[in-house]
Amino acid sequence: MCHIDVSAQVEAGLNVGAMSIPQERRLVTAIPGPRSQELLARKQAAVPGGIGTTLPVFVTRAGGGVVEDADGNRLIDFGSGIAVTNVGNAAPRVVERVQKQVAEFTHTCFMVTPYESYVQVCEKLNELTPGDHDKRTFLVNSGAEAVENAVKVARYATGRQAVVVFDHGYHGRTLLTMTLTAKNMPYKQGFGPYAPEVYRVPLAYPYRWPTGPENCAEEAAAEAIDMITKQIGATNVAAVVIEPIAGEGGFIEPARGFLPRIAEFCRENGIVFVADEVQTGFARTGDLFACEHEGVVPDIITTAKGIAGGLPLAAVTGRAELMDKVHPGGLGGTYGGNPLACEAALGVLETIAEEDLVARARRIGEIMLPRLEAMRERFDVIGDVRGRGAMIAIELVRPGIKEPDPAAVAEVVKRCHAAGLLVLTAGTYGNVLRFLPPLVIPEHLLEEGLGILEKAFAEL
Ligand SMILES: *Cc1c(COP(=O)(O)O)cnc(C)c1O
Repeated sequence: MCHIDVSAQVEAGLNVGAMSIPQERRLVTAIPGPRSQELLARKQAAVPGGIGTTLPVFVTRAGGGVVEDADGNRLIDFGSGIAVTNVGNAAPRVVERVQKQVAEFTHTCFMVTPYESYVQVCEKLNELTPGDHDKRTFLVNSGAEAVENAVKVARYATGRQAVVVFDHGYHGRTLLTMTLTAKNMPYKQGFGPYAPEVYRVPLAYPYRWPTGPENCAEEAAAEAIDMITKQIGATNVAAVVIEPIAGEGGFIEPARGFLPRIAEFCRENGIVFVADEVQTGFARTGDLFACEHEGVVPDIITTAKGIAGGLPLAAVTGRAELMDKVHPGGLGGTYGGNPLACEAALGVLETIAEEDLVARARRIGEIMLPRLEAMRERFDVIGDVRGRGAMIAIELVRPGIKEPDPAAVAEVVKRCHAAGLLVLTAGTYGNVLRFLPPLVIPEHLLEEGLGILEKAFAEL
């Protein structure tokens, strides 16, 4: 049965016309309910245990700020499928374009016979990503594939091999990107040997910087640059790859000044500065791209997650003179820039522009940060509150000391899930709760979700 909740749309001031799910939390069974438990048993028999599950409710539909499960429960969504459905699930412009495209053609392979939508997505990304220099974009299937390709282009263009990455970084699960990723468990454990010529340097993590947040940017940049020049040799470095806000690492915003300093060092030394905006991109942080916050212009930017509302798509956008160096056939892939995914991306970009989702993300931050700050004052297990726009996190520690407290995170998450609030965790130490609501979430659901969270802390 379709039921369009007009009041929620009006309240949020959003066009969620085709979204048929009432924008309200509803619990009709325990979480997970009996139907989800049946499906979970089938999953366990059919899918390897290596594919984890944050919350085993099986979804039947989703939209706005709500995920509905097979038992008819409606959960408030603070996860967006890991920063993917920024425009919401089943966003009207995405649905319309994909439906039309699927009936026209589904695949030709862009490298065999091209089509316009691929070119349109590339034109848009060339225009919208930071910097007004001449750019080129090509499309692939996943964030990891985009990062791998950025490294390929950087190595080709510079004739150098070394790649520098940072503490707490996450770049994917393929051989190269798992190597670029910092955290061993669960991403790397048992999967070696890793790819060669990858070097890791410190990240400016203000909350945990030994001499305090004031000195963090300068000292961390100096240490990183010292390691690059002394241990690797700047002339051997093809690329520095960094997330403008470390995502899986725990939503660590590098101390202000760190990113521009690293970018400047790259410029001075002919190193390709790659911003991995797979998680931070597409309005998530209250800028279209997180690099914009400090006016940093990357040589190459990788995007995925929020790009196409959940259809598999990712992009590599970079300076024309770098990107055009590679010989014909040196880049590509069978499915990269699939026509359905390209139409979805065009629908996403229209939605972001027409509904001003950059401003919506900022508004979400303005609502969440003060509420979470107030919780930090009240509950001493909350050590740090951080983030920008709709990419917000809290770090839980043993009161009085900064020792990570992953057990407290697990307890809070359990209570939130039981109450119908879908939240995700993160962090090198597993002690971060992260909030990534769809940018179209109605404000009453945002408030209700924060209330559930507060209650979970009160009960801890
Ligand atoms: C998720 C993520 C990736 C990997 O993307 P996949 O689509 O899962 O391959 C790479 N970099 C960052 C910053 C990410 O958050």
